[in-house]
Amino acid sequence: MKEQQSYAESRRRLVDSLKREGIIRSEAVERAMLKVPREMFLPPSFRDEAYLDTPLPIGYAQTISAPHMCAILCEYLELKEGQKILEIGTGSGYQAALLAEIVAPSDSSQLGHVYSVEVVQKLVSFSTGNLERTGYSDVVTVIYGDGSLGYPEKQPYDRVVVTAAAPMVPSPLIEQLKDGGRVLIPLERGFFMQELYLVEKKKGKEVRSALMPVAFVPLRGRYGSKP
Ligand code: SAH
Repeated sequence: MKEQQSYAESRRRLVDSLKREGIIRSEAVERAMLKVPREMFLPPSFRDEAYLDTPLPIGYAQTISAPHMCAILCEYLELKEGQKILEIGTGSGYQAALLAEIVAPSDSSQLGHVYSVEVVQKLVSFSTGNLERTGYSDVVTVIYGDGSLGYPEKQPYDRVVVTAAAPMVPSPLIEQLKDGGRVLIPLERGFFMQELYLVEKKKGKEVRSALMPVAFVPLRGRYGSKP
């Protein structure tokens, strides 16, 4: 396995190329992508591939999303320090750490927090361990359960992000969103087609915009495509 220094160099090179491609647009997202060690969210055998811009297996037929997709989600969420975020699909915990790095950086006096729901119990342990080892367990709470139902205990949320593809926008996610808030969700669009949607809640009304074609694993649960 590589030395820490070499991971940091590869991380810098990846961030530079995502900036050149116009994917990383804000300083906050750049800072988060440079800070969170993606190698620490992978099974040991995949650590040396951490800075290839590709999804990687994390077990249980699930994947950690490609770095460019994680950056795209962070940018479109328009995150601010102090916000309360709900993520559906914790997986490795990497996206949750990026979100926390932006809404609750360690030098901030504001109380931003990420609540992340995961339906595979073994991935709850995997992500919790990863978040503990990297120092994010104070600002990210991982919850075991069906995230298509949201997490009503801590509503309302400033932002909601779903990292698995759904047949529809689960109504609980809109109900648990603050007015003026944003949801990012990949929606299934016909055979093997998915599109990333931005849903904004404006004066109680939903405004939807399709952003780009994407590829995510399927959302399970009550509002998912399989049980
Ligand atoms: N954000 C993750 C990538 C997740 S892949 C990361 O940074 O690594 C999608 C995840 O969604 C998988 O871990 C899968 O188990 C989870 N998932 C699927 N349906 C779900 C549901 N209904 N509730 C919570 N998690 C779900």
